[in-house]
Amino acid sequence: MLHIKCPHCGMRSQNEFSYGGDATVKRPELNKEVSDQDWDNFVYNRKSLRGKHKELWQHISGCRQWIKVERDTATHEIFKTAKANEDI
Ligand SMILES: [Zn+2]
Repeated sequence: MLHIKCPHCGMRSQNEFSYGGDATVKRPELNKEVSDQDWDNFVYNRKSLRGKHKELWQHISGCRQWIKVERDTATHEIFKTAKANEDI
């Protein structure tokens, strides 16, 4: 069982969170031409690499805020957590 430190609520069980995907994906700029490939990459294409990743999680059974988590996908070790608008 993982324990995730919510920056708003403190240390909580993983059961209170929902995984939200890769935190490094950037939405294409508004009002600019976007190729089909760039849109596909934003919406669908993800790499499933082993190791340290920056992820989005939502504290669904707590404050309901989105947070960023830096986690190793092989060991599940969590290095850092931050509010969604902060860099980790
Ligand atoms: Zn929380």
